[in-house]
Amino acid sequence: MTTTTETWTNRFGAAMMGSAPPPTAVLVRGEGCYVWDAEGNRYLDFLAGIAVNSLGHAHPVLVEAVSRQIATLAHISNYFASPSQIELAERLKRISGAGDRGRVYFGNSGAEAIEAAIKLSRLNQGRTKIVALTNAFHGRTMGSLSLTAKPAMRDAFQPLLPGVEHIDATIEALEAAIDDTVAALIVEPIQGEAGVVELPDGYLERARELTAKHGVLLILDEIQTGAGRTGTWFYFQQKGIVPDAIAVAKGIAGGVPIGALVTFGNASDLFQRGQHGSTFGGNPLATTAANAVLGEIERAGLVEAVASKGERIRNGIEAANSPLVAETRGAGLLIGVGLTKPVAHEIVAAAFGLGLIVNAASETSIRIAPPLIVSDTEIDEFAIKFTKALEAVA
Ligand SMILES: *Cc1c(COP(=O)(O)O)cnc(C)c1O
Repeated sequence: MTTTTETWTNRFGAAMMGSAPPPTAVLVRGEGCYVWDAEGNRYLDFLAGIAVNSLGHAHPVLVEAVSRQIATLAHISNYFASPSQIELAERLKRISGAGDRGRVYFGNSGAEAIEAAIKLSRLNQGRTKIVALTNAFHGRTMGSLSLTAKPAMRDAFQPLLPGVEHIDATIEALEAAIDDTVAALIVEPIQGEAGVVELPDGYLERARELTAKHGVLLILDEIQTGAGRTGTWFYFQQKGIVPDAIAVAKGIAGGVPIGALVTFGNASDLFQRGQHGSTFGGNPLATTAANAVLGEIERAGLVEAVASKGERIRNGIEAANSPLVAETRGAGLLIGVGLTKPVAHEIVAAAFGLGLIVNAASETSIRIAPPLIVSDTEIDEFAIKFTKALEAVA
């Protein structure tokens, strides 16, 4: 480590709250699928800010749109509306299939989208119970943390929201838990932080049947799976079901903070005037960024290309033929690599040393989530570096 990074790291430790883990590196610049650190080293970014930088770094379309908007009108409060806010709400209704009956609430992060979902569930027939999954991650605010299952994240902050039941991700547990006392079932359609873990076959379909039968809201956390990452705008669209609401954030504005709750059908009638809001939520800057990102994803046909890019990545991982790799999981460009040994952090560090950014979602799983603009050449570079990293650890 040279002085520049060392200096920044020391200053980080002296200035940042202890909740922040020590950084892997201090990054100063990005372009496309690459980022550069304080020493000028270049890294191929196959994490994309955890599925956020859909268009990679410094994409000209996003740069131009945000620059123009901040020079025109950045923020106005919720007493006023802006064209970009209305356009983004219409766009989210369209791409989610929520259509005419759909409605959109804007916040500023994934956790805020989940908070809106929790409040929405309180308006469901006076019920207060929420069912979530044992491996779930829904955010770190007190409400969203109440749905998040991981003891290490929760234990110091009890008591959390009452009335939350965590169940295993099995159809039997689902059938036992969903009844007329439940306000909402909130699930990630693919569990991202758990290591890109898919739900059992038929899970979402059965969840839809049972929740509909018992008047329970089915709320999908598409914060990591949304914005085209899995090969459709939202993952549920591959399952032929219609949820009552989806929470979105991460990839929709390419790095500008935003979160949204999109409701479908009757769930759109639940919130009444004045029941929720946020100062920054839906401001012209963030909604312009999201319109630019989603518009460019659509214009460039990036969603349609996700499946083949994801397959090329998986083929590259499988061709490494490493004894450390047990399986690949996920959908499209949200990929989990299940390991045979708890060496995820070693592999991630070895990859970083070779100029490749991937992420250890747990000791036994690596998460791969490149920008949607990733090219075949960059995927082949990934495969070479990832193979070397596996070999260095095996
Ligand atoms: C990242 C994430 C969140 C939390 O989003 P923040 O913007 O960090 O608050 C919630 N749910 C899922 C599935 C996520 O991936």
